[in-house]
Amino acid sequence: MATEIANLSSNSSGVIVVDPKINSVVAVGYDETSDGSVRHAVMVAIDNVAKSQRGGAWNTSEDLGSQTDENFTLCGIPKNILGKLKEKFRDTSFGASVFTPKNGDPEGPYLCTGYEVYTVKEPCVMCAMALIHSRAKRVFYRTPSAKGALGSLCKIHTIKDLNHHYEVFMVTTNDERGVM
Ligand SMILES: [Zn+2]
Repeated sequence: MATEIANLSSNSSGVIVVDPKINSVVAVGYDETSDGSVRHAVMVAIDNVAKSQRGGAWNTSEDLGSQTDENFTLCGIPKNILGKLKEKFRDTSFGASVFTPKNGDPEGPYLCTGYEVYTVKEPCVMCAMALIHSRAKRVFYRTPSAKGALGSLCKIHTIKDLNHHYEVFMVTTNDERGVM
């Protein structure tokens, strides 16, 4: 699906963020760096996770989905992408659980806590650190990149002194394995 997002947006990378607890796509992202900004696909996806939690730092030109009821929100997925993904991936569920504050636990989960991130391109140092700061649980990528920080240039997730660690998987398709 991350590859499909890259194709739909005519970009080199696409990202999806999944909540494995409810098996649902909570947010997506694709490169928005044509203006030379830091909006790499992973950064956009994390900001969209924040938008699904009533946060987010960046104004976006995309029309985002809305909250469907008090328990479920599509605010992390641009509407135009959501429609196309729903057509192609009919058995997939989309949207994030809305955290309802309870007594003594007003904060809720922090950004990507417990979430899995799937990205076409190996994240750069900035994106890999943003995934650490946002507490991602697992990161999957397909294509290594010269500036990649999860195996190519360095392995940020193995630095012991960082206060959070995620698991990293490089995923190859059967076709690619055949070539190798
Ligand atoms: Zn990046």
